[in-house]
Amino acid sequence: MISAEIQTAAYLFASILFILSLSGLSNQESAKRGVVFGIIGMVVAVVATLLGNIHGYGYIIIAMLIASVIGILVARKVQMTAMPQLIAMLHSFVGLAAVLVGYGSYIDPKTLDLLGAERTIHYIEIYLGVFIGAITFTGSIIAWGKLTEKVTPKPIVYKGKDMINVLLLLVSIVLGVFFVLAPGIEGMPYLAIMTGIAAFFGIILVMAIGGADMPVVISMLNSLSGWAAAASGFTLGNDLLIVTGALVGSSGAILSIIMCKAMNRSFFAVISGGFGQEIKTGTKIEGKVTSITHEEAAEWLKEAQSIVIVPGYGMAVAKAQYPIHDLVEKLRKEGKTVKFGIHPVAGRLPGHMNVLLAEANVPYDIVLEMDEINPELPETDVVLVIGANDTVNPGAQEDPFSPIYGMPVIEVWKAKRVIVMKRSMAVGYAGVENPLFYKENAAMLYGDAKESVDKINSLL
Ligand code: NDP
Repeated sequence: MISAEIQTAAYLFASILFILSLSGLSNQESAKRGVVFGIIGMVVAVVATLLGNIHGYGYIIIAMLIASVIGILVARKVQMTAMPQLIAMLHSFVGLAAVLVGYGSYIDPKTLDLLGAERTIHYIEIYLGVFIGAITFTGSIIAWGKLTEKVTPKPIVYKGKDMINVLLLLVSIVLGVFFVLAPGIEGMPYLAIMTGIAAFFGIILVMAIGGADMPVVISMLNSLSGWAAAASGFTLGNDLLIVTGALVGSSGAILSIIMCKAMNRSFFAVISGGFGQEIKTGTKIEGKVTSITHEEAAEWLKEAQSIVIVPGYGMAVAKAQYPIHDLVEKLRKEGKTVKFGIHPVAGRLPGHMNVLLAEANVPYDIVLEMDEINPELPETDVVLVIGANDTVNPGAQEDPFSPIYGMPVIEVWKAKRVIVMKRSMAVGYAGVENPLFYKENAAMLYGDAKESVDKINSLL
């Protein structure tokens, strides 16, 4: 066993490593280093905790072994496209852990010995931890359902939703007062009712969010899971858990705000489950859709001098990044300018497209962000949209009735010609029709993105 001082020093060291890890993850080139810092920090944290003043090693080791085997199996099996739902599921575990820690601490005999202000503060910590944990738990399960499309990605709302939300919040606060005032463990019924309300809250908050706003919900749940962990840290008197929880909580909150800005959404409206927002369905689109063959697409590319590739979720599904890398090499060898335009919420994870392109060794310097590529599009000869849909939808600018109206998009239709590679006329994640497919300068190239790019490569 190590002394409390050594344990504190180890926790401090682990906290510094976590901060270095986060700063490393902010950039693609330093991301690997960031992950290594995170792993070392976590090993230091776990070892320092295990060597501290704890009992029941047998149970802990058995639980760790089982959990590690499950973790390794899941991590090896998971496809890159299924990563977002795995993350949502992991957030739900953090929420559940916070609920269990809260209940455990409430019935802990040591808690009963607390008096005065110390007791009040501890009970508030327990109550808040369970509240945030229960919202995170059920909210993350619904987010998992929406990402796997087992739950409809469309927003589910009912009449008087906002009123009911406010009422439930008020009831939770009143129950909290009763809970703190109740002697011994007599506050258990209040805690249990609030847990039920918070669990229901988590469900309705995330159910009310429409497909296109899901990225914000994922980062918001990430942030909530951090605050739930920090609350558990207070309950358990564990400084490391407080610091780590606060790091996850605040970085998740910053990411949510960045995402909201990128999508021109109100942060409050999204985190409050679409508070005060009306549901829009979009205007029916009429017109003619043109489709082209792989041969024609290859001709268009041969004729073009400047080409921009805009990938989306379909590129991830098709695993088309490798043939896309070869296509880019071929085109650049011909002296053509090739760039990528990446929307901040393309795919199903922040940075999803950047990760895939980096995996296929596409040079970073030709991968531009939406704001950088948009001004270049009117001068571009051909845009290749590969499995992107919502993120290139002109309805976001042209149709005030569209659910994604106001969201910044990559303005591919401003280029001279646009080739849209996807398998059908199906909608994207937000479930909105796309007027791009009907534009005169756009042509659909139907088929799996990988197969299409492979065919074009062989034709070139
Ligand atoms: P979309 O989800 O809008 O569209 C993807 C398109 O890819 C589909 O329309 C589909 O059409 C096509 N596709 C699927 N499989 C293939 C395939 N094998 N080959 C070719 N095409 C394929 O993607 P975007 O990236 O444009 O937009 C992302 C959406 O996801 C946004 O609404 C965003 O808000 C949301 N979201 C993003 C998250 C994030 O953090 N980035 C998290 C959660 C949600 P078809 O079936 O016809 O082939």
